Amino acid sequence: MGQLSRLESEPEVGEVIVSEADLQARITELGARITADYAGRPPLLVGVLKGAFMFMSDLSRAIELPVETDFMAVSSYGSATRTSGVVRIVKDLDVDLADRHVLVVEDIVDSGLTLNYLQRYLLARSPASLEVCALLVKEGQQRTAIDLRYVGFHIPPDFVVGYGLDVGERLRNLRAIHAYSGDPSGR
Ligand code: 5GP
Repeated sequence: MGQLSRLESEPEVGEVIVSEADLQARITELGARITADYAGRPPLLVGVLKGAFMFMSDLSRAIELPVETDFMAVSSYGSATRTSGVVRIVKDLDVDLADRHVLVVEDIVDSGLTLNYLQRYLLARSPASLEVCALLVKEGQQRTAIDLRYVGFHIPPDFVVGYGLDVGERLRNLRAIHAYSGDPSGR
């Protein structure tokens, strides 16, 4: 192991849950699978802001098809760490989904309520197909049945930061997924 970067040695940044090398290797695999599965029908990648921005950036470059990209921003009602399942669309898509092959790119699935809402919202716009690629899925936490076509890693149900995931808008720029020992509400 090299020396910790300044950010990794912040007091509340804990152990590595998924290393930078493992993230990149898995994203290369996911990109190859998506390239094969969507040959002849390039998908529209829909990233869910803000947490998925880094995953979207790497995943899109691992797909060897002329994909298009768009983003949505959602905020869920509830506490900072517990979603209520009621989601507010903060930024909607710019493109029409009719007859498009839509692949939702999500950072992390916890209860699954956010994704469940998004899937219903997007399906109402008549895409040709709708699938989900989630980088992280927390084990044993899902409160709703969701069909995840592509999953990067299953992780324990603890709060994590890095690689796009924040605590109070900080630590998104950590290169790996880390445990977080502070208050997940960011206070
Ligand atoms: P769900 O609706 O599946 O319970 O929650 C999904 C959203 O909650 C994610 O898109 C993410 O914004 C947030 N979230 C869930 N678990 C974590 C976590 O461990 N760390 C961070 N930073 N955000 C999380």
